[in-house]
Amino acid sequence: MGKALYELGEIPPLGEVPQRMYASVIRRERYGRPVDAFRTEVVDVPPVGRGQVLVMMMAAGVNYNNAWAALGRPLDVIKARQRRGECEDFHIGGSDGSGVVWAVGEGVAQVKVGDEVVLSGCQWDESAADIRLGADPMTSVTQRVWGYESNFGAFAQFSVVDEYQCHPKPARLTWEEAACFMVTGATAYRQLCGWPPHTVRPGDPVLIWGGAGGLGSMAIQIVDLLGGVPIAVVSNEERGEYCLRLGARGYLLRGDYTHWGRLPDIDDEAATSAWTSEVRRFGKRFWEILGERRAPRIVLEHSGQDTIPTSMYLCDTAGMVVICGGTTGYHADVDLRFLWMRQKRLQGSHFANSQQCRAVANLAGTGRLDPCLSWTGTFEELGAAHQMMRDNQHPPGNMAVLVNAPARGERHAAGLA
Ligand code: NAP
Repeated sequence: MGKALYELGEIPPLGEVPQRMYASVIRRERYGRPVDAFRTEVVDVPPVGRGQVLVMMMAAGVNYNNAWAALGRPLDVIKARQRRGECEDFHIGGSDGSGVVWAVGEGVAQVKVGDEVVLSGCQWDESAADIRLGADPMTSVTQRVWGYESNFGAFAQFSVVDEYQCHPKPARLTWEEAACFMVTGATAYRQLCGWPPHTVRPGDPVLIWGGAGGLGSMAIQIVDLLGGVPIAVVSNEERGEYCLRLGARGYLLRGDYTHWGRLPDIDDEAATSAWTSEVRRFGKRFWEILGERRAPRIVLEHSGQDTIPTSMYLCDTAGMVVICGGTTGYHADVDLRFLWMRQKRLQGSHFANSQQCRAVANLAGTGRLDPCLSWTGTFEELGAAHQMMRDNQHPPGNMAVLVNAPARGERHAAGLA
């Protein structure tokens, strides 16, 4: 009979499932600053249902969604699940991870115990009526973000996922590299390739907010791979240099401009004129970097309220602003005159379907997409990592923590890659 609980980094015999596990847990009474909200606890290993897979996590990626989960807003994730009838009074987050298939439920055919996998971060009911009628699963009424809207995400020794969330782990990547890129990479990929006819064509200028962030670092590389011209916005020169190394044509420093936030009142002529002159100055700098007077055909948005007015203004006639988040707020102003007269498109986009996730895994697996892992922490540092992200103090690119994988030094000592 095996042990009931293994220490972090202590690997049970393949396929042996202990009763209990360590998990980084958020509880409602700890909602608030991420650094205080996450705490390591011992909980039961979750059961594996039909079509599901139990994965022993080696590393987990850090994403903004669990900074929101820790804050308890805009969604109280625990209360929302309880309303749906789920009983747990805690949240185990984490929508990105890599690990080893440890057990499979009934009906699982594509993966087997021992397979090394990278996980994708959304779940849906494959038998849902809308999916059976041909809908993209990301638009299904059953779609949920794993490790945010659903429980038992990547921040634990074991996670439960649906079979289709498992993608082969690229051999060239370490566990932590494999764990860090799927949420941001696949989200950026869908934004840039998933909304025809507004997909990146060779020569298309693309404006990318937060170019050195998770989404931004992936987006710059994808635009470059597709032959487009990525131009980033960042808050300092160091981040700008990072974007250049990833393939950006250039970068704008958002601190050089003052017109952020909601639009001034249309009757306030002085404020409107000040806003217009700032946004024009911003647009002129974009032209200078591009080397010609062309507007971005696609604007990759996630910053939201502070930046949408600029995105909508700058976007080319018949171009698209594609948005997947609202870090600075959700009440963004759109001057509808520009939307209709210049026939622009404001498109919502959310994570990615399985095909898009596999495309991104393949790009990373063949070395064409750098996962941009910039920081690897310990399991105990999950709260600190989300706090850095919330404070916009994190290093460029993507971050991961080690769950069961050994640290780099220990790996060398043990003669492992
Ligand atoms: P990230 O790594 O923190 O990058 C975001 C970047 O935004 C930062 O690097 C920062 O760059 C920039 N930024 C911060 N404040 C800004 C402001 N006031 N104006 C303009 N830019 C600002 O986060 P991420 O992983 O890229 O995620 C970004 C957002 O997208 C989050 O809200 C996240 O929840 C959302 N998201 C959604 C999905 C989805 O599936 N729907 C998937 C991934 C992410 P500078 O300070 O250098 O400008």
